[in-house]
Parts: sequence; C-alpha cells; structure tokens
Amino acid sequence: MYGKILLSIILIIGAYLLISRGPLVMKNAEAMNKESNTEHLDEVNPDQVDWKAKDDDYWKEVLTPQQYAVCRHEGTERAFTGKYNSFKGHDGAFYCSSCGNKLFDASTKFDSGTGWPSFYDVASSSSVTLRTDERYGMSRTEVRCARCDAHLGHVFNDGPSPTGQRYCINSVCLMHKDN
Ligand SMILES: [Zn+2]
Repeated sequence: MYGKILLSIILIIGAYLLISRGPLVMKNAEAMNKESNTEHLDEVNPDQVDWKAKDDDYWKEVLTPQQYAVCRHEGTERAFTGKYNSFKGHDGAFYCSSCGNKLFDASTKFDSGTGWPSFYDVASSSSVTLRTDERYGMSRTEVRCARCDAHLGHVFNDGPSPTGQRYCINSVCLMHKDN
C-alpha cells in the first residue's frame, strides 16, 4: 500500500520536473542556435559601461560560443555563412555585438565577393583601433572595436573609392540597427 503511494508520488514529481524543465531546455537550444547574442546590451546603457574592464568569464557568459570565439579570441567565421554577408540595406548602421559601439554606416557596405560583410569606411575615426597582425605567416592589419577591444576582422587596401579601403568584418561581431 505504502509502496504504491510512494511510487505515485515519485511519478507525479517526475512528470512535474519533465514538464517544468521543457521550456528551459528549449530556451537554451534557441540561444545555442542563435549566431550572436546582444541581450546583455538591453539591460544597461551601453554608452555608460566600462567595457574594457569586463573579463573573459563575463564574455563567455553573455556571448554565444561562436561570437565568443571570434570576437574575444580572434577567430574567423566561415566565409558565406554570416547573416550580414548578403545584407543589402543602406539604412542605419552596424554596431559592435559585444558592446553596442557604432562601427560602420550601412551606406558604406559593399559586396566584395569574399564571403564576409565588407565596408569601405568606418562610422567615425574613433570607432575602431588598428593593429598589425603577423599570424599565419601574413602581415595584416587587424580591426578592433575601440570601446571593448573586440576583434572584428581585418582591413585591406583593395577597396572601392572613395577610400580604397576594405574592412572585412565577421557578421557575428556586428549588430544592425535601422537608427
Ligand atoms: Zn565593442
């Protein structure tokens, strides 16, 4: 008798746990499937935060695994896979997906055919910082976010007029807003 009651209680608790955990599991799956996360920017005024003071643990927690690998550890997304590669809109601007810093006006985006979003100019001279990248036996100029130091991509001298520059940027490091 007591055995049956105990079994019933265990079954009820088990069913409850299964039902209550369902949405949580789905939410995590959705987050994992997202290319990049910018929800941490909604909780604060991004212009008021000392983003360079954030440590690696913080970035690992708030960014998706791919976003973390590319933006915080100089990774590169596979060509033609990023969500902004074929983006054609000319309105608004692209912001840093780590810290919300304005990086590129959408009007300066062009189709470079390389498989990565490309821009011929930065939004302002203080948007990004440049540094020499000697990895992989090449000498390239790395582009970083001036506000949070996220790796964004590289800049080359084979871009279109009027600047002749080609900022080759990973989609996962960007967030487009219509302004
Ligand atoms: Zn940034």
